[in-house]
Amino acid sequence: MDEDVLQRVAKWLQTAKSCIAFTGAGISTESGIPDFRTPGGVWSKYQPVYFDDFMASADARLEYWRQKSESHDDMAVAVPNTGHDILARWESSKRLRGVITQNIDGLHQRAGSRCILELHGTARQIMCLDCGARFDAEELVAEFRRTLTVPPCRDCGGRLKHATVSFGQALPQDVLSEALEWSRKCELILAMGSSLLVTPAADLPQLAKRSGARLVIINADPTGMDHLADAVVHTGIGSTLTAIDNLLPN
Ligand code: NAD
Ligand code: ZN
Repeated sequence: MDEDVLQRVAKWLQTAKSCIAFTGAGISTESGIPDFRTPGGVWSKYQPVYFDDFMASADARLEYWRQKSESHDDMAVAVPNTGHDILARWESSKRLRGVITQNIDGLHQRAGSRCILELHGTARQIMCLDCGARFDAEELVAEFRRTLTVPPCRDCGGRLKHATVSFGQALPQDVLSEALEWSRKCELILAMGSSLLVTPAADLPQLAKRSGARLVIINADPTGMDHLADAVVHTGIGSTLTAIDNLLPN
């Protein structure tokens, strides 16, 4: 790791009036949850079910539930790692305003972060698309595994789906507009563990940069936005954040 770069990031963290983190699947790989694009990741195994197909077809709903019940265990047993922990600590010591995440695994909450904008929702809950009721995911996934049929909504008999944003489904507007506001107003944005390819989420670091913030990218692989960044670190998030944290005064 380049010491000079880490020193600069540590200094920006201390001087920026508003600093935010933007996280993607890569912050959770150290907790054992595979990301999308690395080999062995979700896309090398499944064809995603699009939202319109889910709404229109019982077969698509069955396929969706089959995939989700398979990936459920990775998430159910995962615990937060050093990266999540350090961000939670920086929030409580007021170094960080909060976290905008693309992740659906709920690990930022489990680490103790409080100000979190979940752009793509949460897989820890199931939502009825017909009446809006919400249920804990654990029990319903277990029911699907027992019966191998998609459980109906307990309140209205409607269509149940994880409370996440599927391909072809709109992002929750209230969450997105708050994330836009955070991005416009921050002075420093740390984008980490994201290939920065999925829009509109990936537009946020760019918006922050255009609005005058410094952009720091921490990602194992190069991203399409590296050329825009004020600093880029191509190493693991846990070790990078630990190194930066060690440079901060107590
Ligand atoms: P992505 O899979 O496109 O990119 C992840 C990036 O993280 C990769 O570029 C990889 O190089 C990097 N990375 C992996 N492990 C790393 C580590 N330990 N340290 C540093 N970098 C690391 O992920 P994305 O940009 O978040 O887009 C994928 C979409 O999939 C998101 O919308 C998200 O909702 C969803 N998703 C979420 C989870 C989750 O909740 N944990 C998991 C898979 C996919
Ligand atoms: Zn319902």
